[in-house]
Amino acid sequence: ATTPTKRYSITLLPGDGIGPEVITVAKNVLKLVGSLEGIEFSFQEMPMGGAALDLTGVPLPEETLSAAQRADAVLLGAIGGYKWDKNEKHLKPETGLLQLREGLKVFANLRPATVLPQLVDSSTLKKDVAEGVDLIVVRELTGGIYFGKPRGFGTNEKGEDIGFNTEVYSTHEIARKRRGQLCSVDKANVLEASMLWRKRVTAIASEYPDVELSHMYVDNAAMQLVRYPKQFDTIVTNNIFGDILSDEASMITGSIGMLPSASLGESGPGLFEPIHGSAPDIAGQDKANPLATILSAAMLLKYGLGEANAANRIENAVLDTLNRGFRTGDIYSTGNKLVGCKEMGEEVLKSVDSPV
Ligand code: ATP
Ligand code: MG
Repeated sequence: ATTPTKRYSITLLPGDGIGPEVITVAKNVLKLVGSLEGIEFSFQEMPMGGAALDLTGVPLPEETLSAAQRADAVLLGAIGGYKWDKNEKHLKPETGLLQLREGLKVFANLRPATVLPQLVDSSTLKKDVAEGVDLIVVRELTGGIYFGKPRGFGTNEKGEDIGFNTEVYSTHEIARKRRGQLCSVDKANVLEASMLWRKRVTAIASEYPDVELSHMYVDNAAMQLVRYPKQFDTIVTNNIFGDILSDEASMITGSIGMLPSASLGESGPGLFEPIHGSAPDIAGQDKANPLATILSAAMLLKYGLGEANAANRIENAVLDTLNRGFRTGDIYSTGNKLVGCKEMGEEVLKSVDSPV
């Protein structure tokens, strides 16, 4: 190992269910990669979600938020579980996650969907359609219909129950530029908020002549994603469309246990987490696939700390581990070596140590 030259503080939020299992593995990978790249991490583990509810009565304790705000980056496992499902809204683990995103002022959620050659058979699509898919969905995270007011339940003039929500977009919320081919997804033929969105994206894109911009209506985008996903490089869209399209894109890869995500703001620490939930059905059984969290740690290095070399080390190690045939249950197919969460982590460490 080289002498540490760079120091970063990382807040770890293991959370619930399989969260602690996958975070432990990802932490070890970060440590090893750091030692090879002259990076020293200081890790701070804080309670969050259901674990924090049981401990402190709230899903995001103040100490957890302030630790996250002071850190260079935040790595989250997963939150939630049956135990807290019936809680009131302000006492739900998921509410803590919304508060964390708000507290960190992250507004762009990046979700890559890559079909790895080793796992092409996991795809829900035909092999020739799925092969080579490598796209990223950028979702606006803090605005739109999920937060717009007025909202609520009411009664219409006929006395029937109604529920209503409002989509509000002000221009500063529009996601930042990406490189290469950018497809902006909206519903500008129907929604005023989308018309504003399209206008802003077009204006911003004109400042980046190297970015090739196209627009697509969300209904068409949903269709194109399963018809011919290779046409997409970067998709940028609002909160609700991004919620739906990024879940759809994740199914193209077919491996929820493989998919990382990043949430970034203008400045300040980014939030990195696997897209999967706490998987209570397999929690505590050493069955979880830790690769989504390990790849989230790679995104943390790349997008959060600007440590591209260290990020590449992790990505290559994951590919190497898959090439050597190691699979957790969720991505297992005959002929491969079935391993648990811990063993998968150990194999990734070996791959980091001696890349092919
Ligand atoms: P949430 O609402 O938090 O997204 P969920 O119940 O909708 O949670 P997950 O918790 O992601 O979804 O679980 C969905 C299914 O995928 C479960 O059967 C779970 O066991 C499986 N799963 C999720 N993550 C992993 C993983 N890392 N490794 C293996 N299986 C996983
Ligand atoms: Mg879910």
